[in-house]
Formats: sequence, structure tokens, C-alpha cells
Amino acid sequence: MVDTERKVFVISGPSGVGKGTLTQELLRRVPSITHSISATTRKPRPGEENGRDYFFLSIDEFKRHIESGDFVEWALVHENYYGTLKSVVERMLAGGQDVILEIDVQGALQVRDAMPEAVLVFIQPPSMEELASRLEIRNTETDEELSRRLKNAEGEMVLANKYDYVVINDEIDRAVTELEEIVREAKHKKLGDI
Ligand code: 5GP
Repeated sequence: MVDTERKVFVISGPSGVGKGTLTQELLRRVPSITHSISATTRKPRPGEENGRDYFFLSIDEFKRHIESGDFVEWALVHENYYGTLKSVVERMLAGGQDVILEIDVQGALQVRDAMPEAVLVFIQPPSMEELASRLEIRNTETDEELSRRLKNAEGEMVLANKYDYVVINDEIDRAVTELEEIVREAKHKKLGDI
């Protein structure tokens, strides 16, 4: 049984905007929130672990989960499948935790339909130039992959107005403080509604 007092937060934004760093820092500051572990068909990067960073699945396994209706949302992102398993989110909510989904814009819009009470936050870079330079410094993608991610970023930015909040990641500490306020406000509203 899902604890309905718990909240689901969705964090999206273009690749390289710093969602991962912001989410990690938010989790450190707000212990009642847990990060949902997504499933993906992308190959693990050096240092990534199955079950900690992602559930790394084959395309066949992923498609079986789609057919069985196991996903809250799923999407093809940068030519790999990514999805949030219902079982993972339900287990976390049932355990009394609020849950953060760090997912792409297509997934976020599906969550909004499936869970209208979820709080959607879009993380924006200060500029497209800054985003390109962060991706280059991260150096985890091939040149081809990098230009694909930058091109996708332009399409993603257009959808920012579909979110409940937009946070500009100009400075990590400031942006996390803003996220913390969003979480506290959402929780406060929820308590006030009851
Ligand atoms: P990365 O390969 O860099 O870990 O993630 C690539 C993109 O996939 C990021 O924008 C990330 O937010 C998104 N992503 C990660 N997990 C999920 C998921 O479960 N669902 C969706 N729709 N996108 C995801």
C-alpha cells in the first residue's frame, strides 16, 4: 500500500546542466528524500554500478517491462531506453520516503499525467554556451554524442514552461537552496491540504 502523504518530485533538464550534482546535494540536505533508481539500456560508464546508479538491462528485458506495464514512465533518450519502475517508486513511498525522479522531459510529462500530484522542477543552464562548456569539461561523451545531447537540449528547454518550477543552475549552493525551499513548500502545502 502506498503512503499517499509522501511526495514525488521530478527533476529534469538538459544533459550536462548539473541535475545529478544538485540532486545529490539536495538528498544530503533533506534526508527524508530518496533517489529512485531508473532502468536503462545504456552501457554502464566506468565506476557505475548496477542497482546503485541504474538497473542496467538488455533491450529485450526493457521491452518485457514495457509490455508488462511495469513502468511509471519510459522514454528513448539519446538512443537508449530509460524508465522508472513502478515497483521501485512504490517501495520507496511505502518505506515513508519522498522520492526524486531525475528523468528527461518526455518522462516528466508522462509522470505529470500518471501522478498529477507530483512536483515537476526543470533545471536550466545560465546559457547554452555554459551548457556546452560543462558537457565538454565532463568529457563522458564522444563528439557525436555530445552534439546530439546539445541538439536535444534545445528541444528540452522549450518544454520548461510545462513544469511547476524552473531553477537556474548558476551556482550550486544557491540552486540547491532553491530546490530545498520548493520541497519544503510542497510538503507544507500537502500538510495544509489534509
Ligand atoms: P545519463 O545517460 O547521462 O545517465 O542520462 C541521460 C538522460 O536520461 C538524462 O537526461 C536523465 O535525466 C535521463 N533519465 C535517467 N533516468 C531516466 C528515467 O528513468 N526515465 C527517463 N524518462 N529519463 C531518464
